Amino acid sequence: MNKAKQVAIAGAGIGGLSAALALAKTGHKVTIFEQASQLGEVGAGLQMSPNAMKVLRYLGVEDALRAFAFVPQHACIRHFKSGDYYLKSPLGAVAEARYGAPYWHLHRADLHKVLLTACEQTGVSLILGSAVESYLDLDDQVIVTLEDQSQHSVDLLIGADGIRSVIREQMLGKESPTFMKQVAWRGVIPVSELDGVTIQPDACVWVGPKRHLVTYYLRGGEWVNFVAVEERDDWQQESWREEGDINELRAAFAGWHPEVSGLLAKAQSTFLWALNGREALSTWHQGRVVLLGDACHPMLPFMAQGAAMAIEDAYALGRLLEQHALPVALARYEALRKPRTTKIQAMSKDNAGLYHMRGGALGRMKLNALRVASEYCPPVIHAKLDPVYGYDLEGRLVDSSYEG
Ligand SMILES: Cc1cc2nc3c(=O)[nH]c(=O)nc-3n(C[C@H](O)[C@H](O)[C@H](O)COP(=O)(O)OP(=O)(O)OC[C@H]3O[C@@H](n4cnc5c(N)ncnc54)[C@H](O)[C@@H]3O)c2cc1C
Repeated sequence: MNKAKQVAIAGAGIGGLSAALALAKTGHKVTIFEQASQLGEVGAGLQMSPNAMKVLRYLGVEDALRAFAFVPQHACIRHFKSGDYYLKSPLGAVAEARYGAPYWHLHRADLHKVLLTACEQTGVSLILGSAVESYLDLDDQVIVTLEDQSQHSVDLLIGADGIRSVIREQMLGKESPTFMKQVAWRGVIPVSELDGVTIQPDACVWVGPKRHLVTYYLRGGEWVNFVAVEERDDWQQESWREEGDINELRAAFAGWHPEVSGLLAKAQSTFLWALNGREALSTWHQGRVVLLGDACHPMLPFMAQGAAMAIEDAYALGRLLEQHALPVALARYEALRKPRTTKIQAMSKDNAGLYHMRGGALGRMKLNALRVASEYCPPVIHAKLDPVYGYDLEGRLVDSSYEG
């Protein structure tokens, strides 16, 4: 098989748009098929750590994003009632100097819009209301069939179609994602409506028994974003648009620190997600078809790395397809990306124990050890975060070894 020229992407989420941009910039003719009939203001905040920001810089969208960003000053972990700090690690200018790219908070809609504009300017075609139904993988082409039964022949099909990917299902068989027995409420509140409630300019995780809550600012500090996670086993939807019950949310976090309860008292609406996951897949590619983002490695959001990993996948795939014939590019893509995403999936899962104060005395010891490290021994914190935030993707793409 020679290099791919015509590429179809299923899904115009953050992963699909990043892949389209990376591929269009390396000379591919890209068409995205998106099942939704319109792309709107959906989602909430996303933390974009320096590893992802570096890739967004390579993709040429960092400057366009700057106007929408908020720069957090610290990454914090605080006790749900007392507000005492278990972690207070500098972000802001310190993180930018350390990792060579900023740590920004962005609204998903802003990131999505900037990527979409860049795609349009680079000649990507986006066809809305066009769900991919199936594909036929042949020696010299892959034929993509849409729900309306129209067919499109391309050199490569990328499944960026999220956690319930139909591309993954055809490649590897029907298997529902696993409900992780946790739900997440997400919402944004205009600062003008906070009415005296003070939120620190940090990325703050409030930890408590069987639940945690994350707060941070968006859009230059105009909005506060919250993500509240509760261990629960009775909710199994995930979408960007499922309404949650604000009173139920307030009840779940009743008695928490005034910064949390005050914030939730001001929230007018919220969206609710079931958090689902998957074990590492046996393969990410087959013939002329390849997966990326949540389609192949959905993760709990407790490292704030799901979209970051989709962005890294997208760029890696684009660069490898630029350099190699299709089979080599896809094999190298999986060899490079799978170890890294599998590790971050596991780190995200581990954080559930820490954030939800699991393990009684041992759990408390871990949090206290974090407090000591944060105050007196920052290298311990760096040892955990540097491999995630300081990851040199571009360096690995020019290197011949593909260790994650
Ligand atoms: C509570 C929460 C907080 C999070 N916080 C962060 C964070 O701070 N930082 C971070 O990096 N990540 C975060 N994430 C993770 C992040 O949101 C996801 O990992 C990321 O959005 C996945 O992007 P994707 O493009 O792979 O998939 P998706 O966003 O799911 O996009 C898939 C797209 O494919 C379309 N589609 C589906 N099926 C088809 C089909 N058959 N044909 C055509 N189109 C189709 C869908 O309509 C959708 O547009 C968080 C997640 C949650 C739940």
